[in-house]
Amino acid sequence: MDINCTEKELFLLKKIAHAAADLQMPCFVIGGFVRDKLLDRPTKDADIVCVGDGIDLAHRVAERFQPKPQVAFYKNFGTAALRIDDFEIEFVGARKESYRYHSRNPEVAPGTLEEDQLRRDFTINAMAISLNQPDYGRLVDPFGGQKDLADRIIRTPLEPGQTFSDDPLRMLRAIRFASQLGFQIDPHTWEGICLHVDRIKIISQERITEELNKILLSRKPSVGLDLLYQSGILHIIFPQMVDLAGAEYIDGMGHKDNFYHTLQVIDNISSNTDDLWLRWAALLHDIGKPPTKKFEQGHGWTFHGHEVVGGRMVPRIFTRLKLPQNEKMRYVRKLVELHLRPISLTKENITDSAIRRLLFDAGDDIEDLMMLCSADITSKNKFKVKRYLENFNMVRQRLAEVEEKDRMRNWQPPITGELIMEVFSLPPGKLVGEIKNAIREAILDGDIENSYEAAYGLMVKKAAQHNLHPIQ
Ligand code: ATP
Repeated sequence: MDINCTEKELFLLKKIAHAAADLQMPCFVIGGFVRDKLLDRPTKDADIVCVGDGIDLAHRVAERFQPKPQVAFYKNFGTAALRIDDFEIEFVGARKESYRYHSRNPEVAPGTLEEDQLRRDFTINAMAISLNQPDYGRLVDPFGGQKDLADRIIRTPLEPGQTFSDDPLRMLRAIRFASQLGFQIDPHTWEGICLHVDRIKIISQERITEELNKILLSRKPSVGLDLLYQSGILHIIFPQMVDLAGAEYIDGMGHKDNFYHTLQVIDNISSNTDDLWLRWAALLHDIGKPPTKKFEQGHGWTFHGHEVVGGRMVPRIFTRLKLPQNEKMRYVRKLVELHLRPISLTKENITDSAIRRLLFDAGDDIEDLMMLCSADITSKNKFKVKRYLENFNMVRQRLAEVEEKDRMRNWQPPITGELIMEVFSLPPGKLVGEIKNAIREAILDGDIENSYEAAYGLMVKKAAQHNLHPIQ
């Protein structure tokens, strides 16, 4: 074999080879599996291309396993898939493609292996390994994919302009692979992308967002995000991000470029977490800055309230990008809204009550918030960064102490709205909320003890101000 496979993969490939031989069908493993093996990256699926009917081959392969796996197949597309344990195998007949201008879905017709390799997006994705006698295991690499892997280059096998115009999703894939693999995009290929940026408009939002998420999950997301920006694609798919770019100067006073600051924050956080939503929070943490930007005479640039405005933008952005409208969105919004709070605690005398409030507001997301906040420290001044981080560690320590003492993380005030209604025989309404909030605030501020008795006492006092007294 020209690639290094695990025992299990070798076993699976042999079974496929035998099934294909039964059908006298030339057959190859192709694309991402071959690329990732040559790069020594983990693989969890494999694409098989055969010169013949891929669905027939999939059924033949399935018959060779006990118990027989289910074959999912799509007659219209001529594709089939089956799963052995956690390994997914997809089958398709070799095909050639021709495109129409308004769609990325080509007309397809049966073809040879060479024609099938020609329709693949990049040289590094077009390599195949033969599963046939007499050259079982040999690499078939017509476009120099192996050399491009060694040189760490993304390049199209055909003329780039044609490739990207035919299927503009490939522009996002090129940038995503550059980000995931840390590769450069070949200059001619890059030119092709920049010339066809407008074609991205024919791609569905779901596909765009899938690639955006993969870029965000790469080791250094700034690589892909900056390429999206440089190419002009970001202007189309995510204009609010582009609004962050650039620095304005008035009276010689400027502010930092919030786009590149944001990229650095994402890279910082990505060295500590693989969580997609925490990375989204990093991407959006300053998104409210452009609409809140002001120049104040004698003071400089301000972005007052950008965390609140940014928080409000999150649901709209999630809707537009077709990201989930569920607790993930609320989590991102919450982190955007709270992202200044821990750092503000390093600037004042930290009272127990400020710490309690932060623990209460952040709840179980406090660790994530702290991670976002330390990733947000990106000053070029090393001393400043060091001082901030030291202060920050103090906040961490105080958080731990107060949490140990008061258990505020998942705290619920000891008096509920139902109890207030019952004690004073009140219908639901504004007053119930007012009394409940007054109790919560008093405990958070440390004005009364965090106990049922103290809260009950305050409830009676507050109600008395409204001429209400407990019903016996
Ligand atoms: P990953 O699994 O990380 O997305 P992959 O390369 O395996 O990487 P798939 O989307 O599974 O990606 O595609 C499998 C193969 O199909 C690719 O390696 C490539 O050869 C081909 N391919 C996928 N999408 C396109 C496309 N838009 N245009 C041309 N070829 C494509």
